[in-house]
Amino acid sequence: MKCEELLAMLNEYVDGTVDPAICEEFEKHMAGCNPCQVVVDNIRKTITLYKAGQPYELPVKFRARLHEALREKWKDSHKTG
Ligand SMILES: [Zn+2]
Repeated sequence: MKCEELLAMLNEYVDGTVDPAICEEFEKHMAGCNPCQVVVDNIRKTITLYKAGQPYELPVKFRARLHEALREKWKDSHKTG
């Protein structure tokens, strides 16, 4: 799995709606890719905070914004110069 693929699956992954096989690929990738670990960790924390307040239903806009922010962060961490 490439970083781009991981990012594309991010929402499904954190929602727990991703295929178990893909989930496995996801975790394999993360094991060897620190920037992706950071991104996934961040999105998980955000969702945990969100869930603490109310039933788990991320508004589409919120998700889009979060995804965008993470994408930017990810781009930064993947810069090789
Ligand atoms: Zn990666």
